[in-house]
Amino acid sequence: MANPFKVIGSVVRVAGPLVEAEGGLHAHMLEMVEVGDNRVVGEIVRLQGNRIKIQVYEDTTSLKPGAPVYGSGMPLAVELGPGLIGAIYDGIQRPLEVIRASSGQYVQKGIHALALDRKRKWRFQPVLKPGATAGGGTIIGLVPETALIEHRVLVPPGVQGKVKAIAAEGDYTIDEEVAVILDNNDQEHTVSMCQRWPVRQGRPFLAKLRLSEPLITGQRVIDTLFPVPKGGAVAVPGGFGTGKTVVQHQIAKWCDARIIVFIGCGERGNEMTDVLVNFPKLTDPRSQRPLMERTILIANTSNMPVAAREASIYTGITMAEYYRDMGYSVAVMADSTSRWAEALRELSGRMEELPADEGFPAYLPTRLAEFYERAGSVNTLSGKPGSITIIGSISPPGGDFSEPVTQHSKRYVRCFWSLDRDLANARHYPAVSWTDSYSEYLSDVAVWWDGNFDPQWLSMRNRIIELLQQEARLQQVAKLVGPDALPDAQKIVLEAAAIFRNGFLQQSAFDKVDTFSVPAKQIKMLKIILTFYEKSLEAVKAGASLADVQRSPLRSAVLRMKSACSNEEIEKLDALLKEVGNFKVEAGV
Ligand code: ADP
Ligand code: MG
Repeated sequence: MANPFKVIGSVVRVAGPLVEAEGGLHAHMLEMVEVGDNRVVGEIVRLQGNRIKIQVYEDTTSLKPGAPVYGSGMPLAVELGPGLIGAIYDGIQRPLEVIRASSGQYVQKGIHALALDRKRKWRFQPVLKPGATAGGGTIIGLVPETALIEHRVLVPPGVQGKVKAIAAEGDYTIDEEVAVILDNNDQEHTVSMCQRWPVRQGRPFLAKLRLSEPLITGQRVIDTLFPVPKGGAVAVPGGFGTGKTVVQHQIAKWCDARIIVFIGCGERGNEMTDVLVNFPKLTDPRSQRPLMERTILIANTSNMPVAAREASIYTGITMAEYYRDMGYSVAVMADSTSRWAEALRELSGRMEELPADEGFPAYLPTRLAEFYERAGSVNTLSGKPGSITIIGSISPPGGDFSEPVTQHSKRYVRCFWSLDRDLANARHYPAVSWTDSYSEYLSDVAVWWDGNFDPQWLSMRNRIIELLQQEARLQQVAKLVGPDALPDAQKIVLEAAAIFRNGFLQQSAFDKVDTFSVPAKQIKMLKIILTFYEKSLEAVKAGASLADVQRSPLRSAVLRMKSACSNEEIEKLDALLKEVGNFKVEAGV
């Protein structure tokens, strides 16, 4: 490839990650540039007359006034092709390994690491013949990218025509030509296994689809109470230590999306190191293969420049869209979006923009919207459906949810898992509050649950929510009159709610059996608890006391079932349900 860079200006001022330059005649807004002799990478974020402001992704300490600015003529883009899966990148898609190898611990200036390996050969198998119609998004061949993911080689968007030539099955590098498309104006377009796409622009698709299939996370409070469909968007706010990262990791590990893109913006100094050490060790529970064989990691460590952190969520979502376009379901996790928003705030401050809420720029809501709007279930250009689910965690300072990032995120997501400080303090994990959380996707996914598992799913789910609400009201009453003053029928409500909280909602990420529940297990557990509740009420109405109910060995069996019955032993739950259905207590026995 010819080097497209041309000098377009020279540096006049350096302020941390922000560089001002003069020249600018041939500069474009959002153009990718390189600055100085070290050629550090940046992006033009402001153009005023002949003044350019550049957001630089690397250390700027060596830059001095007078240093040249080279324009690329292109926006900041990522490389897309086989080799993405399993990779660990920084916020502008530089492989972390390469950066590390060349500089030890820190990201050095001006490292031009290519995102994808140029020398590696991939086994390409054509799926089209010469003469076939092919346009942007058409799958022309297949490459076994990892043991878990088949890479579907796509014609880049924007081309429409017929296959003139296509490579025979064989081993090719990503730069080699694998097809030639002749467009309707008789122009030839060569297609390789690598394409570029600007990160701040969503990739095109045919149509948005209705969301209907839930993303199964195996976390009961999520799947049963506050479900998110494939293609949905969720915000997960929570104060420090309430379990945001554990929730994100659990979903990355267990959810039934085919591909995981994990964007880590670490909160604690060593948190990203944890991710970098731990993720590569994780096993995909379904295939027993390394989880990295279906995962792309983006790591923003605290020693990386803020601008790269700002770019990281766009880099991540663009790679996710590329796999969506192959017809895959992709789950994108951003942990935490607050660190991203802070990068935005810092850069805005450096540009001396007028601050809005709490120092964040006035365009914070727009940027959040642009991110979450890239979630969705779509009909791709290839004709196959694909989806992107976004799960963004938020760490509000002081756990105060009235702050701007939480409030604005709320406008663009339809699902909200609110992590509760009191629950976390009581070691009730996942600390997802059942009073403050919501999912507006409930009726979308109910059809799936009702059709695949139980036509009673939605009504059972609503009954249990009602039970929890009743509990909250009764707890208020009990505070005034003392719990003993409540009639037994109301004590049974409190008892059943407690069983549901401890025996269903509480789910340890660290328990081998309990860490993940298949949908069939969740729905059976739900049914068992509701049945136990009904039978207990009947017993009390027939004269039994709360103590009689609590003495029953069935009660402890119900409380234990989450970890006593593995996902492979669901029939044990059928037996338990039967016993619970026949549950009778006689008063005072
Ligand atoms: P945050 O990211 O919100 O600061 P973390 O996700 O790091 O919080 O969680 C803090 C701690 O809470 C974890 O180290 C773990 O001990 C506990 N925890 C959180 N979620 C769970 C869970 N589902 N099961 C068991 N422990 C949990
Ligand atoms: Mg965390």
